[in-house]
Amino acid sequence: MRLRNVPHAKETINNNPHYVIPEPKDHRGSWQQIFEKNQPLHIEVGMGRGRFLYGMAQANPQINYLGIEKMDSVLINALERLMKNPLPNLRLVRVDAEQLDEMFARGEVDLVYLNFSDPWPKKKHAKRRLTHENFLKQYETITDFGAIHFKTDNRSLFEYSLMSMANYGMKYDFMSLDLHNSEYEGNIMTEYEARFSKKGHPIYRLEAHFVNQVQICQTMLCEEE
Ligand code: SAM
Repeated sequence: MRLRNVPHAKETINNNPHYVIPEPKDHRGSWQQIFEKNQPLHIEVGMGRGRFLYGMAQANPQINYLGIEKMDSVLINALERLMKNPLPNLRLVRVDAEQLDEMFARGEVDLVYLNFSDPWPKKKHAKRRLTHENFLKQYETITDFGAIHFKTDNRSLFEYSLMSMANYGMKYDFMSLDLHNSEYEGNIMTEYEARFSKKGHPIYRLEAHFVNQVQICQTMLCEEE
């Protein structure tokens, strides 16, 4: 993402705590209270300018959405859209995803979206990829064995993520290697998706869920007795 220098970004974000929730760790276990309705919570990690999450929140008023983005200069775009056309079920947080498990109690999140995550192509930066096992561990906890929906145009990142999730023991529920030419319905495009699909890149999409190995073992033991 080409970063604009947005001089007023930090100030505007700080002046709008209703939309960009300050001190996210203080809301651990009580995120529902920042929304009008108590309903499932879906998050996008690395939301960017927020086109996808805004579209999702508009289309699904029965779900609460929280956009997570670490860069002021990017998040400001999502904030400005939300200020212009407020939605009760969409809020934003400026935070690094490394702190997710300090922000959310176990099972507080129902679904994690990862869209066009930074690929970090160098091996020495692999730990920064949002599908690295260190992040998977956090998603597993905050969703309590929930699910991840992942989209990218980056083949290497997709291959890496398939391996990372498989090695972690996750199960796949849906996969497309060319989403826009598949039968999948109801896709809402992200900023990056619009840009790269215009260039002719195929879009990869994966839905995967965590598996509670302990529960499975206990169930099997019970059946053997
Ligand atoms: N999801 C958007 C889209 O598809 O248009 C933006 C994609 S952009 C390539 C990746 C975004 O993830 C950037 O805005 C970046 O700042 C954010 N990001 C990367 N690592 C992050 C992290 N550890 N915590 C929070 N945001 C992160």
